[in-house]
Amino acid sequence: MSFLLSPELSALRQRVRAFVDERVLPMERAIVDEDRAGQHVTLRSLQAQAREAGLWTPHLPVELGGLGLGPMGMAALFREMGRSPVGARVFNCDAPDQGNMDLLLQVASPEIRERWLQPLVDAEITSAFAMTEPAPGAGADPTNLRTRAVRDGDEWVIDGHKWYTTGGGQASFLILMARTSPDQRKGATMFVVDRHAEGVEHVRDYGTMGEPMLTHREAEFRFHGVRLPDSAVLGGVGEGFQLAQMRLVPARLTHCMRWLGWSARVLEMCRSYLGERQSFGKILARHQMVQLKLATNARAIHAGNLMTLHCAQMLEQGLDKQARPYSSMCKDHVANTICQVLDDAIQMHGGLGYSQDLPFADWYRHARAARIADGPDEVHRVVVARDFLLGRLDLLV
Ligand SMILES: Cc1cc2nc3c(=O)[nH]c(=O)nc-3n(C[C@H](O)[C@H](O)[C@H](O)COP(=O)(O)OP(=O)(O)OC[C@H]3O[C@@H](n4cnc5c(N)ncnc54)[C@H](O)[C@@H]3O)c2cc1C
Repeated sequence: MSFLLSPELSALRQRVRAFVDERVLPMERAIVDEDRAGQHVTLRSLQAQAREAGLWTPHLPVELGGLGLGPMGMAALFREMGRSPVGARVFNCDAPDQGNMDLLLQVASPEIRERWLQPLVDAEITSAFAMTEPAPGAGADPTNLRTRAVRDGDEWVIDGHKWYTTGGGQASFLILMARTSPDQRKGATMFVVDRHAEGVEHVRDYGTMGEPMLTHREAEFRFHGVRLPDSAVLGGVGEGFQLAQMRLVPARLTHCMRWLGWSARVLEMCRSYLGERQSFGKILARHQMVQLKLATNARAIHAGNLMTLHCAQMLEQGLDKQARPYSSMCKDHVANTICQVLDDAIQMHGGLGYSQDLPFADWYRHARAARIADGPDEVHRVVVARDFLLGRLDLLV
Protein backbone atom coordinates (compact mmCIF):
# COMPACT_ATOMS: atom_id res chain seq x y z
CA MET A 1 0.00 0.00 0.00
CA SER A 2 1.50 3.32 -1.05
CA PHE A 3 0.82 6.51 0.87
CA LEU A 4 2.65 8.63 -1.67
CA LEU A 5 0.52 11.16 -3.50
CA SER A 6 1.05 11.60 -7.24
CA PRO A 7 3.02 14.76 -8.12
CA GLU A 8 -0.20 16.37 -9.48
CA LEU A 9 -2.13 15.60 -6.31
CA SER A 10 0.75 16.76 -4.16
CA ALA A 11 0.81 20.09 -6.00
CA LEU A 12 -2.97 20.43 -5.69
CA ARG A 13 -2.76 19.73 -1.98
CA GLN A 14 -0.12 22.46 -1.58
CA ARG A 15 -2.37 24.91 -3.39
CA VAL A 16 -5.31 24.12 -1.10
CA ARG A 17 -3.04 24.42 1.94
CA ALA A 18 -1.76 27.81 0.79
CA PHE A 19 -5.31 29.00 0.05
CA VAL A 20 -6.47 27.95 3.52
CA ASP A 21 -3.42 29.47 5.25
CA GLU A 22 -3.38 32.75 3.36
CA ARG A 23 -7.04 33.45 2.73
CA VAL A 24 -9.35 31.32 4.91
CA LEU A 25 -7.63 31.32 8.32
CA PRO A 26 -7.25 35.11 8.49
CA MET A 27 -10.98 35.51 7.69
CA GLU A 28 -12.27 32.63 9.81
CA ARG A 29 -13.51 34.84 12.64
CA ALA A 30 -15.13 37.30 10.20
CA ILE A 31 -17.00 34.47 8.46
CA VAL A 32 -18.39 33.18 11.77
CA ASP A 33 -19.31 36.68 13.02
CA GLU A 34 -21.01 37.58 9.74
CA ASP A 35 -22.89 34.27 9.77
CA ARG A 36 -24.21 35.05 13.26
CA ALA A 37 -25.46 38.38 11.87
CA GLY A 38 -27.11 36.56 8.92
CA GLN A 39 -24.54 37.75 6.34
CA HIS A 40 -22.10 35.88 4.13
CA VAL A 41 -20.16 38.57 2.27
CA THR A 42 -16.70 37.25 3.18
CA LEU A 43 -17.68 33.63 2.60
CA ARG A 44 -19.11 34.49 -0.83
CA SER A 45 -15.96 36.39 -1.76
CA LEU A 46 -13.73 33.46 -0.75
CA GLN A 47 -15.99 31.02 -2.61
CA ALA A 48 -15.56 33.11 -5.76
CA GLN A 49 -11.78 33.07 -5.25
CA ALA A 50 -11.76 29.27 -4.75
CA ARG A 51 -13.70 28.89 -7.98
CA GLU A 52 -11.32 31.19 -9.81
CA ALA A 53 -8.36 29.21 -8.46
CA GLY A 54 -9.87 26.00 -9.92
CA LEU A 55 -10.35 24.45 -6.46
CA TRP A 56 -14.17 24.37 -6.44
CA THR A 57 -16.01 21.06 -5.65
CA PRO A 58 -12.90 19.01 -6.55
CA HIS A 59 -14.71 15.75 -5.65
CA LEU A 60 -17.13 16.16 -8.58
CA PRO A 61 -16.58 15.02 -12.18
CA VAL A 62 -14.93 17.52 -14.53
CA GLU A 63 -18.15 17.97 -16.55
CA LEU A 64 -19.83 19.33 -13.41
CA GLY A 65 -17.00 21.74 -12.73
CA GLY A 66 -14.97 19.52 -10.38
CA LEU A 67 -11.57 17.86 -10.67
CA GLY A 68 -12.80 14.26 -10.78
CA LEU A 69 -10.87 13.25 -7.66
CA GLY A 70 -11.46 9.82 -6.17
CA PRO A 71 -11.52 9.11 -2.41
CA MET A 72 -7.69 9.27 -2.13
CA GLY A 73 -7.63 12.70 -3.76
CA MET A 74 -10.46 13.81 -1.49
CA ALA A 75 -8.47 12.62 1.52
CA ALA A 76 -5.50 14.73 0.43
CA LEU A 77 -7.56 17.89 -0.09
CA PHE A 78 -10.35 17.63 2.49
CA ARG A 79 -7.85 17.33 5.35
CA GLU A 80 -6.36 20.66 4.28
CA MET A 81 -9.77 22.33 3.96
CA GLY A 82 -10.83 20.87 7.32
CA ARG A 83 -8.05 22.74 9.14
CA SER A 84 -10.66 25.48 9.51
CA PRO A 85 -14.22 24.60 10.56
CA VAL A 86 -15.42 26.98 7.82
CA GLY A 87 -12.87 25.75 5.24
CA ALA A 88 -14.89 23.01 3.55
CA ARG A 89 -17.77 25.44 2.91
CA VAL A 90 -15.40 27.80 1.08
CA PHE A 91 -14.70 25.03 -1.47
CA ASN A 92 -18.32 23.75 -1.40
CA CYS A 93 -17.17 20.48 0.12
CA ASP A 94 -19.01 20.64 3.45
CA ALA A 95 -21.56 18.22 4.89
CA PRO A 96 -24.34 17.57 4.16
CA ASP A 97 -24.16 19.10 0.65
CA GLN A 98 -21.04 17.25 -0.46
CA GLY A 99 -22.53 13.81 0.38
CA ASN A 100 -25.88 14.83 -1.13
CA MET A 101 -24.21 15.93 -4.37
CA ASP A 102 -22.46 12.57 -4.64
CA LEU A 103 -25.71 10.70 -4.02
CA LEU A 104 -27.72 12.74 -6.56
CA LEU A 105 -24.98 12.23 -9.08
CA GLN A 106 -25.20 8.48 -8.71
CA VAL A 107 -28.91 7.80 -8.40
CA ALA A 108 -31.14 10.82 -9.11
CA SER A 109 -33.59 10.91 -12.04
CA PRO A 110 -32.73 13.34 -14.88
CA GLU A 111 -35.52 15.69 -13.64
CA ILE A 112 -34.05 15.84 -10.13
CA ARG A 113 -30.51 16.29 -11.37
CA GLU A 114 -31.54 19.12 -13.63
CA ARG A 115 -33.59 20.92 -10.99
CA TRP A 116 -31.38 20.52 -7.94
CA LEU A 117 -27.88 19.26 -8.67
CA GLN A 118 -26.39 22.14 -10.69
CA PRO A 119 -27.60 24.92 -8.33
CA LEU A 120 -26.20 22.90 -5.42
CA VAL A 121 -22.87 22.50 -7.20
CA ASP A 122 -22.85 26.25 -7.85
CA ALA A 123 -23.66 26.94 -4.14
CA GLU A 124 -26.72 28.92 -5.20
CA ILE A 125 -28.72 26.67 -2.87
CA THR A 126 -28.05 24.28 0.02
CA SER A 127 -29.61 20.92 0.88
CA ALA A 128 -30.26 18.67 3.89
CA PHE A 129 -30.54 14.99 4.72
CA ALA A 130 -33.60 13.97 6.77
CA MET A 131 -33.34 10.50 8.23
CA THR A 132 -33.39 10.93 12.02
CA GLU A 133 -36.72 11.23 13.87
CA PRO A 134 -37.56 12.06 17.48
CA ALA A 135 -38.17 8.95 19.65
CA PRO A 136 -39.69 6.47 19.06
CA GLY A 137 -38.64 6.96 15.41
CA ALA A 138 -35.39 6.33 13.52
CA GLY A 139 -32.19 7.17 15.38
CA ALA A 140 -29.16 4.99 16.06
CA ASP A 141 -31.42 2.20 14.79
CA PRO A 142 -32.75 3.36 11.39
CA THR A 143 -35.21 0.46 11.24
CA ASN A 144 -37.38 2.41 13.73
CA LEU A 145 -38.29 4.61 10.76
CA ARG A 146 -41.86 5.96 11.13
CA THR A 147 -42.19 8.60 8.41
CA ARG A 148 -44.41 6.95 5.80
CA ALA A 149 -44.75 7.28 2.05
CA VAL A 150 -47.98 5.80 0.70
CA ARG A 151 -48.98 5.37 -2.92
CA ASP A 152 -52.05 7.36 -4.05
CA GLY A 153 -52.77 7.15 -7.80
CA ASP A 154 -49.50 7.95 -9.54
CA GLU A 155 -48.14 9.96 -6.60
CA TRP A 156 -46.50 9.34 -3.24
CA VAL A 157 -47.94 10.92 -0.10
CA ILE A 158 -45.54 11.58 2.79
CA ASP A 159 -46.47 11.98 6.45
CA GLY A 160 -43.97 12.11 9.28
CA HIS A 161 -41.78 13.92 11.73
CA LYS A 162 -38.00 14.54 11.50
CA TRP A 163 -35.39 16.32 13.53
CA TYR A 164 -31.64 16.85 13.34
CA THR A 165 -32.12 17.72 9.67
CA THR A 166 -28.89 19.73 9.62
CA GLY A 167 -29.22 22.89 7.56
CA GLY A 168 -32.86 22.04 6.76
CA GLY A 169 -34.15 25.48 7.73
CA GLN A 170 -32.07 27.14 4.99
CA ALA A 171 -32.09 24.27 2.48
CA SER A 172 -33.93 24.37 -0.84
CA PHE A 173 -34.51 20.62 -0.86
CA LEU A 174 -34.32 17.67 1.52
CA ILE A 175 -33.28 14.10 0.87
CA LEU A 176 -35.83 12.30 3.02
CA MET A 177 -36.02 8.69 4.13
CA ALA A 178 -39.53 7.23 4.47
CA ARG A 179 -41.04 3.83 5.11
CA THR A 180 -42.69 2.33 2.03
CA SER A 181 -43.26 -1.19 3.41
CA PRO A 182 -42.91 -3.07 6.72
CA ASP A 183 -39.93 -5.09 5.37
CA GLN A 184 -36.99 -4.53 7.76
CA ARG A 185 -34.36 -4.53 4.97
CA LYS A 186 -36.26 -3.30 1.92
CA GLY A 187 -38.93 -1.18 3.59
CA ALA A 188 -37.36 2.28 3.18
CA THR A 189 -37.17 4.65 0.22
CA MET A 190 -35.37 7.96 -0.29
CA PHE A 191 -37.16 10.93 -1.81
CA VAL A 192 -36.11 14.40 -2.87
CA VAL A 193 -38.52 16.91 -1.35
CA ASP A 194 -38.81 20.59 -2.20
CA ARG A 195 -38.37 22.23 1.19
CA HIS A 196 -41.09 24.79 0.33
CA ALA A 197 -43.62 22.29 -1.05
CA GLU A 198 -47.14 22.28 0.33
CA GLY A 199 -47.33 20.21 3.52
CA VAL A 200 -43.65 20.68 4.50
CA GLU A 201 -43.68 22.37 7.91
CA HIS A 202 -40.38 23.73 9.18
CA VAL A 203 -41.31 23.54 12.86
CA ARG A 204 -38.18 25.24 14.24
CA ASP A 205 -34.42 25.56 14.29
CA TYR A 206 -33.43 24.56 17.82
CA GLY A 207 -30.39 25.15 19.97
CA THR A 208 -27.74 22.49 20.62
CA MET A 209 -24.49 22.29 22.57
CA GLY A 210 -22.64 24.01 19.68
CA GLU A 211 -23.43 27.51 18.39
CA PRO A 212 -25.01 27.38 14.92
CA MET A 213 -22.36 27.81 12.21
CA LEU A 214 -23.11 28.24 8.49
CA THR A 215 -25.35 25.28 7.50
CA HIS A 216 -24.64 23.50 10.79
CA ARG A 217 -28.00 24.46 12.31
CA GLU A 218 -30.45 21.83 13.48
CA ALA A 219 -34.02 21.78 12.17
CA GLU A 220 -37.23 19.97 13.02
CA PHE A 221 -39.81 19.21 10.32
CA ARG A 222 -43.30 17.79 10.05
CA PHE A 223 -44.63 16.44 6.78
CA HIS A 224 -48.40 16.64 6.28
CA GLY A 225 -49.55 14.74 3.18
CA VAL A 226 -46.68 16.00 0.98
CA ARG A 227 -47.35 14.79 -2.58
CA LEU A 228 -44.44 13.67 -4.76
CA PRO A 229 -44.13 12.24 -8.29
CA ASP A 230 -42.19 9.04 -9.06
CA SER A 231 -39.26 11.09 -10.31
CA ALA A 232 -38.67 12.24 -6.69
CA VAL A 233 -37.61 8.69 -5.74
CA LEU A 234 -33.85 8.26 -5.43
CA GLY A 235 -32.59 4.94 -6.76
CA GLY A 236 -35.50 2.53 -6.51
CA VAL A 237 -38.43 1.96 -4.17
CA GLY A 238 -37.22 -0.09 -1.19
CA GLU A 239 -33.56 0.80 -1.69
CA GLY A 240 -33.45 3.44 1.07
CA PHE A 241 -31.35 1.49 3.58
CA GLN A 242 -28.84 0.41 0.91
CA LEU A 243 -28.58 3.97 -0.41
CA ALA A 244 -28.10 5.23 3.16
CA GLN A 245 -25.08 2.95 3.44
CA MET A 246 -23.90 4.01 0.00
CA ARG A 247 -24.12 7.67 1.09
CA LEU A 248 -22.94 7.25 4.65
CA VAL A 249 -19.78 5.16 4.19
CA PRO A 250 -17.97 7.73 1.99
CA ALA A 251 -19.65 10.69 3.77
CA ARG A 252 -18.42 9.34 7.12
CA LEU A 253 -14.93 9.13 5.71
CA THR A 254 -15.04 12.72 4.46
CA HIS A 255 -16.02 13.78 8.00
CA CYS A 256 -12.89 11.97 9.20
CA MET A 257 -10.75 13.82 6.63
CA ARG A 258 -12.04 17.22 7.77
CA TRP A 259 -11.73 16.31 11.47
CA LEU A 260 -8.13 15.15 10.99
CA GLY A 261 -7.14 18.47 9.43
CA TRP A 262 -8.87 20.26 12.29
CA SER A 263 -7.18 18.04 14.93
CA ALA A 264 -3.72 18.61 13.42
CA ARG A 265 -4.22 22.38 13.41
CA VAL A 266 -5.44 22.45 17.02
CA LEU A 267 -2.38 20.51 18.18
CA GLU A 268 -0.12 22.86 16.20
CA MET A 269 -1.87 25.85 17.77
CA CYS A 270 -0.81 24.55 21.19
CA ARG A 271 2.90 24.95 20.40
CA SER A 272 3.29 28.67 21.05
CA TYR A 273 1.68 28.74 24.53
CA LEU A 274 3.50 25.58 25.59
CA GLY A 275 6.78 27.06 24.37
CA GLU A 276 6.36 30.34 26.26
CA ARG A 277 4.34 29.84 29.41
CA GLN A 278 6.54 29.22 32.45
CA SER A 279 5.31 26.95 35.20
CA PHE A 280 7.32 25.60 38.15
CA GLY A 281 10.59 26.93 36.73
CA LYS A 282 10.34 25.73 33.12
CA ILE A 283 8.19 26.17 30.06
CA LEU A 284 5.11 23.95 29.88
CA ALA A 285 6.53 22.05 26.89
CA ARG A 286 9.27 20.67 29.15
CA HIS A 287 6.79 19.06 31.56
CA GLN A 288 6.45 15.36 30.84
CA MET A 289 2.72 15.24 31.52
CA VAL A 290 2.27 17.90 28.84
CA GLN A 291 4.51 15.95 26.45
CA LEU A 292 2.43 12.86 27.12
CA LYS A 293 -0.69 14.72 25.96
CA LEU A 294 1.09 15.91 22.80
CA ALA A 295 2.49 12.48 21.97
CA THR A 296 -0.79 10.67 22.64
CA ASN A 297 -2.75 13.07 20.45
CA ALA A 298 -0.11 13.05 17.69
CA ARG A 299 -0.28 9.25 17.70
CA ALA A 300 -4.07 9.29 17.51
CA ILE A 301 -4.05 11.73 14.58
CA HIS A 302 -1.46 9.68 12.72
CA ALA A 303 -3.44 6.46 13.30
CA GLY A 304 -6.57 8.24 12.09
CA ASN A 305 -4.74 9.32 8.94
CA LEU A 306 -3.67 5.76 8.21
CA MET A 307 -7.18 4.39 8.82
CA THR A 308 -8.68 7.07 6.58
CA LEU A 309 -6.21 6.49 3.74
CA HIS A 310 -6.65 2.72 3.98
CA CYS A 311 -10.41 3.07 3.79
CA ALA A 312 -10.20 5.65 0.99
CA GLN A 313 -8.05 3.24 -0.98
CA MET A 314 -10.64 0.47 -0.51
CA LEU A 315 -13.38 2.77 -1.81
CA GLU A 316 -11.18 3.74 -4.73
CA GLN A 317 -10.93 0.04 -5.62
CA GLY A 318 -14.72 -0.35 -5.42
CA LEU A 319 -14.53 -2.42 -2.21
CA ASP A 320 -17.33 -0.42 -0.55
CA LYS A 321 -18.91 -3.37 1.24
CA GLN A 322 -15.60 -4.65 2.64
CA ALA A 323 -14.74 -1.08 3.71
CA ARG A 324 -17.75 -0.81 6.01
CA PRO A 325 -16.26 -2.09 9.31
CA TYR A 326 -13.03 -0.17 8.62
CA SER A 327 -15.03 3.01 7.99
CA SER A 328 -16.88 2.44 11.28
CA MET A 329 -13.59 1.92 13.14
CA CYS A 330 -12.14 5.00 11.48
CA LYS A 331 -15.15 7.22 12.25
CA ASP A 332 -15.23 6.10 15.89
CA HIS A 333 -11.47 6.67 16.25
CA VAL A 334 -11.31 10.07 14.54
CA ALA A 335 -14.46 11.42 16.24
CA ASN A 336 -12.93 10.56 19.61
CA THR A 337 -9.58 11.99 18.51
CA ILE A 338 -10.94 15.45 17.64
CA CYS A 339 -12.82 15.57 20.97
CA GLN A 340 -9.72 14.52 22.94
CA VAL A 341 -7.40 16.88 21.06
CA LEU A 342 -9.69 19.83 21.80
CA ASP A 343 -10.24 18.81 25.42
CA ASP A 344 -6.46 18.56 25.91
CA ALA A 345 -5.87 21.86 24.09
CA ILE A 346 -8.24 23.53 26.57
CA GLN A 347 -6.47 21.83 29.48
CA MET A 348 -2.99 22.75 28.29
CA HIS A 349 -4.02 26.42 27.95
CA GLY A 350 -5.63 26.49 31.41
CA GLY A 351 -8.00 29.45 31.94
CA LEU A 352 -7.03 30.89 28.56
CA GLY A 353 -8.14 27.66 26.87
CA TYR A 354 -11.52 27.84 28.61
CA SER A 355 -11.97 31.53 27.68
CA GLN A 356 -13.51 32.94 24.52
CA ASP A 357 -10.17 34.59 23.69
CA LEU A 358 -9.23 31.32 22.00
CA PRO A 359 -11.61 29.27 19.84
CA PHE A 360 -11.02 25.89 21.53
CA ALA A 361 -14.06 25.96 23.86
CA ASP A 362 -16.36 26.95 21.00
CA TRP A 363 -14.83 24.32 18.73
CA TYR A 364 -15.10 21.64 21.40
CA ARG A 365 -18.84 22.20 21.67
CA HIS A 366 -19.13 21.63 17.92
CA ALA A 367 -16.76 18.70 17.78
CA ARG A 368 -18.62 16.79 20.51
CA ALA A 369 -21.38 16.05 17.99
CA ALA A 370 -18.90 13.91 16.03
CA ARG A 371 -19.37 11.07 18.52
CA ILE A 372 -23.16 11.04 17.94
CA ALA A 373 -23.89 12.24 14.38
CA ASP A 374 -23.69 9.66 11.57
CA GLY A 375 -24.11 6.93 14.16
CA PRO A 376 -22.96 7.05 17.79
CA ASP A 377 -19.65 5.47 18.87
CA GLU A 378 -21.42 2.43 20.28
CA VAL A 379 -23.14 1.51 17.02
CA HIS A 380 -19.85 1.68 15.11
CA ARG A 381 -18.22 -0.53 17.75
CA VAL A 382 -21.09 -3.01 17.40
CA VAL A 383 -20.37 -3.19 13.64
CA VAL A 384 -16.64 -3.75 14.24
CA ALA A 385 -17.22 -6.41 16.90
CA ARG A 386 -19.86 -8.18 14.80
CA ASP A 387 -17.63 -8.35 11.73
CA PHE A 388 -14.68 -9.47 13.83
CA LEU A 389 -16.73 -12.27 15.41
CA LEU A 390 -17.90 -13.34 11.95
CA GLY A 391 -14.28 -13.48 10.76
CA ARG A 392 -14.90 -10.68 8.24
CA LEU A 393 -12.40 -8.21 9.69
CA ASP A 394 -8.79 -8.80 8.70
CA LEU A 395 -6.69 -7.02 11.29
CA LEU A 396 -3.41 -7.47 9.45
CA VAL A 397 -4.26 -5.86 6.11
C1 LIG B 1 -24.96 17.79 15.32
C2 LIG B 1 -25.76 16.64 14.74
C3 LIG B 1 -26.08 16.69 13.39
C4 LIG B 1 -26.86 15.67 12.83
N1 LIG B 1 -27.24 15.75 11.51
C5 LIG B 1 -28.10 14.85 11.00
C6 LIG B 1 -28.60 15.01 9.67
O1 LIG B 1 -28.23 15.95 8.93
N2 LIG B 1 -29.53 14.12 9.22
C7 LIG B 1 -29.99 13.08 9.98
O2 LIG B 1 -30.82 12.32 9.53
N3 LIG B 1 -29.52 12.91 11.26
C8 LIG B 1 -28.60 13.77 11.78
N4 LIG B 1 -28.15 13.63 13.08
C9 LIG B 1 -28.73 12.58 13.91
C10 LIG B 1 -27.77 11.46 14.27
O3 LIG B 1 -27.45 10.67 13.16
C11 LIG B 1 -28.44 10.69 15.42
O4 LIG B 1 -28.46 11.55 16.55
C12 LIG B 1 -27.72 9.41 15.74
O5 LIG B 1 -27.86 8.46 14.70
C13 LIG B 1 -28.23 8.79 17.05
O6 LIG B 1 -29.62 8.67 17.03
P1 LIG B 1 -30.47 9.25 18.28
O7 LIG B 1 -30.04 10.65 18.51
O8 LIG B 1 -31.91 9.02 18.01
O9 LIG B 1 -29.98 8.40 19.50
P2 LIG B 1 -30.69 7.09 20.11
O10 LIG B 1 -31.02 6.15 19.01
O11 LIG B 1 -31.77 7.52 21.03
O12 LIG B 1 -29.48 6.51 20.98
C14 LIG B 1 -29.09 7.17 22.18
C15 LIG B 1 -27.78 6.59 22.67
O13 LIG B 1 -27.96 5.22 22.97
C16 LIG B 1 -26.75 4.53 22.79
N5 LIG B 1 -26.96 3.40 21.88
C17 LIG B 1 -27.78 3.34 20.78
N6 LIG B 1 -27.70 2.13 20.20
C18 LIG B 1 -26.81 1.42 20.93
C19 LIG B 1 -26.29 0.10 20.84
N7 LIG B 1 -26.63 -0.74 19.83
N8 LIG B 1 -25.41 -0.32 21.78
C20 LIG B 1 -25.02 0.50 22.78
N9 LIG B 1 -25.47 1.77 22.90
C21 LIG B 1 -26.35 2.21 21.99
C22 LIG B 1 -25.74 5.54 22.21
O14 LIG B 1 -24.95 6.03 23.27
C23 LIG B 1 -26.64 6.61 21.67
O15 LIG B 1 -25.98 7.89 21.62
C24 LIG B 1 -27.31 14.59 13.64
C25 LIG B 1 -26.95 14.56 15.01
C26 LIG B 1 -26.18 15.56 15.55
C27 LIG B 1 -25.83 15.49 17.01
